[in-house]
Amino acid sequence: MNIRSIILTICLLTAALLPAESMDPLKLRPLITKEEIASRLKETARQISQDYAEKDLVVVMVLKGALCVVADLIRELDLPLDIEAVQCSSYGARGTQRGALQVIGEERLQIHNRDVLVVDDIFDSGHTIVTLIEKLKEKHPSSIKSCVLLYKNDVEKATDYRPEYVLFDIKNEFVVGYGLDYKERYRGLPGIYVLESP
Ligand code: 5GP
Ligand code: MG
Repeated sequence: MNIRSIILTICLLTAALLPAESMDPLKLRPLITKEEIASRLKETARQISQDYAEKDLVVVMVLKGALCVVADLIRELDLPLDIEAVQCSSYGARGTQRGALQVIGEERLQIHNRDVLVVDDIFDSGHTIVTLIEKLKEKHPSSIKSCVLLYKNDVEKATDYRPEYVLFDIKNEFVVGYGLDYKERYRGLPGIYVLESP
């Protein structure tokens, strides 16, 4: 084996042993730690538990981004509740212009006369949550509110509505982790990170 093939073997072995994330040329800057998320979740859950004490709560999770926040939130809620899920996406999300919001799974929701709490990852322009809430109102719930992990400031909003429960306000930066993805990656990171170019 010559020196070149030894170096090549070492490089290949190192690449195979490293987790996929660490080979990514994009940089992750820590923004919110898992401890900060846990502490804010406890506070928010206490508030929701008080507000919904006498209600018939249905948590509507917006997939996939809200998966971590819902999983942790429901374990802090001191309430009986049902969980339902919908998936939201905008046509043209692959770089072309945003189109109509597509909601999958909405037809299955049994929310008539019930108290709905929509839980999503990020309120950016607000288009997703506001459109979803309008659609769900057609099913005549008793009440409908929303809870988001992150609210992006300094972004032009589609609405004046602000979710009743917001865990963190952040700047207008692209974030990943704790359910949030970039091209379906990074959802499993325990904290929230800003995705930066190298
Ligand atoms: P909106 O309809 O409020 O403009 O956009 C909300 C949706 O866009 C979020 O539910 C999320 O799927 C996506 N989004 C907006 N900002 C970010 C971000 O910084 N990171 C990630 N991963 N998704 C985002
Ligand atoms: Mg989303």
